[in-house]
Amino acid sequence: MKIKDQTILVRQSWLNDLIICPERARFKVAKPDMSGPSDATIMGTAIHYGIETVLAGANPIDMPETVLAHWEELKAQPHKVTNLDPDKAVEQMRGMSQAFVEQILPNVKLGGQVEMRFSFPLGITVGDYDVWCEGTMDYIDPDGTIWDWKTASRPYYMKEKQSQSIQATVYTAAAVHLGLTSYPAEFRYGVMVRQEKPKAQIGVLHRTMEHQQWLMHNVKPVIQTALVMGTDRNWLMNDTSALCSEKWCDYWTLCKGAFISPNGLSLPLQPTTMTVTELVSDTVVVNKPNRKGTENG
Ligand code: SF4
Repeated sequence: MKIKDQTILVRQSWLNDLIICPERARFKVAKPDMSGPSDATIMGTAIHYGIETVLAGANPIDMPETVLAHWEELKAQPHKVTNLDPDKAVEQMRGMSQAFVEQILPNVKLGGQVEMRFSFPLGITVGDYDVWCEGTMDYIDPDGTIWDWKTASRPYYMKEKQSQSIQATVYTAAAVHLGLTSYPAEFRYGVMVRQEKPKAQIGVLHRTMEHQQWLMHNVKPVIQTALVMGTDRNWLMNDTSALCSEKWCDYWTLCKGAFISPNGLSLPLQPTTMTVTELVSDTVVVNKPNRKGTENG
């Protein structure tokens, strides 16, 4: 969140954080240096780079090698290690590249705009400030369909995305504002599953003015609260999302991790009559880092 003259400027990814955990959004403003790429996000960045070259006219056959060469460069920079198996990374990136070329690319209408930066008024006024949103769309095709490339551990649950994706709502609102499409508009996720065997998903969402109005209604009170609170005091903390963990929250050690030890998170022995199955959350999504190396959409 930046304040410039009479405008509050927010990134789409920050709005996402704000809704999921306001405290995480506060940390991103107050301690931006603690936020950085991880092994998972640099894989995503390398795949995005390969896709950009293909959409710019490079031979799709070369995509895996382009991706791997870029990944080697990114790997040499500082990044956080999560739970990915480094021995599988190369084959997984080959698999994801192949998934894009064989399963997603044939469904992409070429000739659109790659990595399109945008900035537009969200339609919210807080106090004396107009709230604007900025970001970068991965691709918008000549017909106005917006695409976002994702690398993920498994396919998306699209019903949840249709209901909750802030990214789809913001990007579509931006495209409508810029006259590149009109409501009802289509937003597509091109998901490449992080595995050796190529597996892709094309998830189609639709967006209308009602989604934009819900976003405006949703975001306004949190921006109001943020302005009143400032960034020196703690904001509300939501530790119920899958992002709230040592692996996925850059601020864990300053927040929940400062209170709860690993022992406090470990499950005691369960009675033998119970079968405990570890629930896998559907909400951890690895986006590519933005140009500063932090996650965005
Ligand atoms: S550790 Fe959890 S509660 Fe704290 S900022 Fe991160 S996501 Fe939010």
